[in-house]
Amino acid sequence: MPTAGPTRKMWQRMVAIMLTMVIITGSVMAVRLAWIMVVNGEEYQAKASAQQLHDAYITAERGNIYDSTMNLLAKSSTVWTIYSTPNDIAKIKDPEEKQKVINTLTEGLSSILSIEKEEVEKKLGKTTSYYVEIKKKVGEEETSKVREFLNNNSKLGLANYIGIDESSTRYYAENIASTVLGFVGDDNQGLSGLELKYDEELTGVAGRVVAAKNAVGADMPFSYEKVVDEQPGNSLVTTIDPYVQYVVEKHLDAAVKDNKVAERGACVIMNVNTGAILAMATKGDFDCNSPFTLSADDQAIVDALEGEERSKKLAELRNRQWRNKVVSDAYEPGSVFKVITAAIGIEEGVASLNTTCNCPGYIVIAGRRYNCHKETGHGMQDMKKAMDNSCNPFFISLGQTIGTNIFSKYFKAFGLTEKTGIDLTGEAASQYHLEQNMGPTELGSSAFGQTFKITPIQLITAISATVNGGTLVKPRVVEKIIDSEGNVVKNLGTVEKRQVISKETSKIICDLMESVVAEGGGQNAYVPGYRIGGKTGTAQKVSEMLSTGKQGLYVASFCGVAPMNDPEIAILFLLDEPHGDSYYGGTISAPPGGQILAEILPYLGYEPQYTEEELKDLAKTVPNVAGLDIAAAKNAVKNEGISYKVIGGGEKVVKQLPAAGNSVYSGGVVILYTDSEAPTETVKVPLLTGMTISQVNSVAVQYGLNVSFKGNTNSAKAVVSFQQSIAAETEVERGTVIEVYFRSNETGDIGG
Ligand SMILES: [Zn+2]
Repeated sequence: MPTAGPTRKMWQRMVAIMLTMVIITGSVMAVRLAWIMVVNGEEYQAKASAQQLHDAYITAERGNIYDSTMNLLAKSSTVWTIYSTPNDIAKIKDPEEKQKVINTLTEGLSSILSIEKEEVEKKLGKTTSYYVEIKKKVGEEETSKVREFLNNNSKLGLANYIGIDESSTRYYAENIASTVLGFVGDDNQGLSGLELKYDEELTGVAGRVVAAKNAVGADMPFSYEKVVDEQPGNSLVTTIDPYVQYVVEKHLDAAVKDNKVAERGACVIMNVNTGAILAMATKGDFDCNSPFTLSADDQAIVDALEGEERSKKLAELRNRQWRNKVVSDAYEPGSVFKVITAAIGIEEGVASLNTTCNCPGYIVIAGRRYNCHKETGHGMQDMKKAMDNSCNPFFISLGQTIGTNIFSKYFKAFGLTEKTGIDLTGEAASQYHLEQNMGPTELGSSAFGQTFKITPIQLITAISATVNGGTLVKPRVVEKIIDSEGNVVKNLGTVEKRQVISKETSKIICDLMESVVAEGGGQNAYVPGYRIGGKTGTAQKVSEMLSTGKQGLYVASFCGVAPMNDPEIAILFLLDEPHGDSYYGGTISAPPGGQILAEILPYLGYEPQYTEEELKDLAKTVPNVAGLDIAAAKNAVKNEGISYKVIGGGEKVVKQLPAAGNSVYSGGVVILYTDSEAPTETVKVPLLTGMTISQVNSVAVQYGLNVSFKGNTNSAKAVVSFQQSIAAETEVERGTVIEVYFRSNETGDIGG
């Protein structure tokens, strides 16, 4: 559980001890004051009382956190602390007046600030204290009511006993990237994520004020002198792209729910050349504005318990939702790791695209039998086929050829034995076989990504090195640090750690990964118009299954790269312990991974380049025909290769469905209404799942509906629809566009 570091407390104590001066000048300052608790200890209390002085510091405004487009992700906003100086009340000589002051304050403050009367009375009764907080983080409306109340009671001099300090609270504008941003505690101190990692930068330097008592008259109980000016905290400009982050969170959240994922899901998108993280998400996570609130499901689990068990579970679940899975949870990567094994073999010259290995469905290493996920065997495999099919025996055999010495050397060179050093807190270390402990079986399982654990951030960084020309870069979330005026204090540019493989090897890996998406186990991530590469994984959680006795625990993942002619973007998408229809990475992680790429690549400036075949499959755009004569409208629609249906007997088109600009597929229909009085034709949406592309198209055409194909729409493959945007049996207008999602089920890659 994250806790506030000791530094601030120690510093506070130090400053408190340093207080000795008496300075009596100036007027009451309208500054953000947070009194050091000089009056906490009896000793200090006595001292302060005797000298009639106390000290304060002015907290500097905490810096902001921006996304890569300079939108605010985290900022400080103004709130107020209402406090009292009970020591002054105690000094009122007339007992009747004193009681009246206490009664009026108790009544007024408890009602305005919604605090129990007893509580207010108790605080006002702390007669040895100069400073007692009545309420923190009070909003503007309540604060002005307090001011009004004090003014209305000026005869009683209430303003002499109540103070209003401005302070600040943290506000997270977009509520995205919560596990990256983290959150702050009551005193605005960073407790996790960037807020903790860069706490010192963000906090700034507090100013100091020394105050003396009652020097200039009864209506001005304190005078202050500012000794040191506060310096506002610096701000962080992150590499997080708000749109990419939004797209990632949308698809990750849906995938976690749809696939009944028990141990949450994670996704990260990184620039393979610079290490800049464009998006990083964990679901379920938390709301930065309310980090202690659990999800409804988690809260129900806690509520079912009592006593110590309850508090233990509450702490555990809070901790879990705060954990950034991308950096804090090491896992067995499974088949995605085969990319690394291939890179090692090719770089060392012990393997090439022509390397072959026969897969009879298993392989025996040192007397131990390892099965392939295809029990009947893949037959003779070369490197490309083995990668497409994710054939276990091929890669186990390749591992044996590489040998423990070389394998361990590259495992280290790819950064898998050390933390990446990403600028986030809580980065976990990896767990792996040391070279001296690595026998043939450990080498065999390691070669296909099992029996060792690395973090998602380590894996995507290593995969990035395999496709970017061979350089291991340091992943990072902050691009630069700026001061309160916007001047750059520090630029945190690209850090290249070392060259791990050659450009030539890297090029071969790119081709292999592209083939996986075009023809192999990653085809559900196919995006028309783009050259995408990738590798899927369905890793068994072996140690968890052994320790819990549970069966069927997997991590389903997809690692993608684009565009393959000059890789720039890598994505790692993983679902930890899915319990839905499928647990295969190729079936449940590649589709959202591909969909994310489809939505972000055009935004990031990559123009799609369609093949002829893709063009043929592509949607036609509905022209604008509203207002046209019926004959002209029919022609315009027909010229786009779309059919039409006319409703009503008028001369002109008054309405069309779908509207102009929508896309419909071949066989699609536009409904032309020629008369505003014409009744709307409705139809019940048919079930469109479990079908091929052409089946869905023909059913939709029969119903007078339009479809927009999403997901893996590579029509050359055996893809099947699995989701539709409007549920079957819903009554809709004819011509409505329904989004239908496709995926291939031929993506087995189990056991790594
Ligand atoms: Zn095989």
